[in-house]
Formats: sequence, structure tokens, C-alpha cells
Amino acid sequence: MKTITLGSTGITTPQNAFGALPVQRVDMQTAVEILHRAYDGGMTFFDTARAYSDSEIKMGEAFDTLRHHEYSRDKIFIATKTTATTPEKLKEDLETSLRNLRTDYVDIYQLHCVKQCYRPGDGTGLYETLLEAKAQGKIRHIGITAHKIGIAEEIATSGLYETLQFPFSYLATDRDIALVETCRKNNVGFIAMKGLSGGLLTNARACMAFMLEYPVLPIWGIQRLSELEQWLDFFKNPPEMTDELRAVIQRDRDELLGEFCRGCGYCMPCSVEITINQCARMSQMIRRAPSKDWLTPHWQEEMMKVENCVDCGECLKRCPYELNIPTLLRKNLADYKDILSGKIKV
Ligand code: SF4
Ligand code: SF4
Repeated sequence: MKTITLGSTGITTPQNAFGALPVQRVDMQTAVEILHRAYDGGMTFFDTARAYSDSEIKMGEAFDTLRHHEYSRDKIFIATKTTATTPEKLKEDLETSLRNLRTDYVDIYQLHCVKQCYRPGDGTGLYETLLEAKAQGKIRHIGITAHKIGIAEEIATSGLYETLQFPFSYLATDRDIALVETCRKNNVGFIAMKGLSGGLLTNARACMAFMLEYPVLPIWGIQRLSELEQWLDFFKNPPEMTDELRAVIQRDRDELLGEFCRGCGYCMPCSVEITINQCARMSQMIRRAPSKDWLTPHWQEEMMKVENCVDCGECLKRCPYELNIPTLLRKNLADYKDILSGKIKV
């Protein structure tokens, strides 16, 4: 497995890292077991966030109980995030993260899903607070995460951030790929989130082979030991990009490129309680996962809620991909009804 050095941070880690968002959905014992196995299996970079409910607490417990695995804090890198927009909240979040993670420092502290490129002197005081925390040794490096390409491009050339976390998978556009190159030129470490595009991509080998062609660090969201083993297996057998995998990628790109919902949920809550992050991508999910899972009475009821959309526009303001959500929902519902009636077979 190749290693990667994240821009100016000097952090060098295998190009196969752990995304700890999903461990918030499992109990403590399972989370600890998964995290121990990830470390024993060769992963050294772990990404979490204040916003992922108890994910930091689970990481804190897991790394605190790793001592018998010849563990020391300097053998791993911890990245976490804050959604703070004021210095006071940022300081409070950082203290909470340090306490939850049971550590004196965070390797990379990231501003989470920003809507602007925070700069010194912009009046928010946010960047100055990050510098202060760095001077105090509480954070080692300043990073940022964004979902909108325009903001990400501004960040990459700002000279202010050592890492940028951005969605990147084999559904990347030319502009996304150019962003990776801009980061490389500007010595900004690129952390690739959503490598499976919110569960739409199911061929892990193709996903990994694609990532290994770029100077990016993929963080795979992991919730089950079985998923983890598949990523750990790549330490022994890193996938080469073959014609067969290229064909898989091309097929998926032909099918999925364009306006598609990544399932991130940033647009929610919906004013009339539509489960947007599933209903807006039902057409893809139902064709890519066992379709019976999406045809249950529960999902039929959820899909019919789309008819209640009042076009209030609240969700539109929050989708980082600027999708026309009401239109997308209605398109998915029409397709779903055709599948239910047997007009379309999946
Ligand atoms: S526009 Fe429709 S889907 Fe979006 S928040 Fe309003 S009611 Fe919900
Ligand atoms: S509509 Fe946009 S914000 Fe909502 S889940 Fe899909 S991609 Fe995410």
C-alpha cells in the first residue's frame, strides 16, 4: 500500500484511512472493536467530527484502551472538525473534542463544511482562534472541509489551510480532478471524503484503484467489521487499475453522472418531513442494492410523502451540490410508482 504525505503537514500515512462518521450508529463495544482492528490492520489516520454525535467519544475509548497493542498516541493521526462560526464556539468545541478523544492535541483541526473561506482579518475571528489554538499546541495543523467546488478552489489557493477535505470518487468531474492538482501544486493535503459517493458505488476495488491514481487520502466511512476487512485487505493486495475496473467505472459514470443526490442529508430537515437524502436518490438505490429493501411498506410510505412537497425552498438553500431537490424528488417518485405498478422492471 502506497503512503501519502498530506501537503505541508508532513503527516505521512497509508493511502487508506478511516472515516468515523458511521461508528456513531453502532454501540460502544462494536465501535471499539472496529477501531482496534483498523489500527491493528494498518490504518493510522482517523477522521471524525464534533457533529458526528458520539463518534469522538468512541474513538477516545478505543485509543485509550489500545495500550496492549503497542500503541502510543504518536502512532496515529486524529483529524476532527468544528462547525463553529464564532471564536467562543470554536474554543468550546475544541475543548470538548480533546476531552472526548482523551488527547492533548488534534493532528488536524478542520472547519467543517464551510460556506466561505475564512481568512485572518475577515471580522469573524475564526482563523485567529485557530492560530491561537495551534500556538497553544492543542492543534497541530489547520484544515478545512467544503462541498462546493468554488469555495474549495478558493481555499486551495488561499495559502491558509494545510489540508482540504472534499468529496472525491470516480464520479469526479474534470473540475474536481483539477482541484486535486491545484492542491498538490499549493502543497495542500487533499482528504477525499465520500469515496463511495454516499453508498451509490459498490465496487470497493474500483473505488480504491481510482483513488490510488491520485495524490489524495481516502477516508472510508466504516460501520461494520466486514466492511473494514475489505479495506484492510487492500494493504496486502492493493488494486491495480485494470481494463476490467475501468469498464466498471465507465459504466457507473454513464449511469450516474450529472445531477445526483449524494445522500449527505445537509438539506434536511424538510418542512413536511420528507426523507430527502433517500427519496431523492431512490431510482439509483433501488437499481444498485437489492430492490426489495426499498419496496417495503415503510419506504412506500416515505416515497408517497414526496407528494406533500410544498416547494418552500428551505432544502434548496442547504444542498451543497445546488440540486433542484423538489424536481429530483418528483422524478424519483414517478419512477418509483412505475416500478411499483410493474411498468418498469428493476
Ligand atoms: S421544498 Fe419540498 S422537499 Fe424541500 S424542504 Fe420544502 S417541502 Fe421539503
Ligand atoms: S439533496 Fe443535496 S443536501 Fe440533500 S441529501 Fe442530496 S446531495 Fe445531500
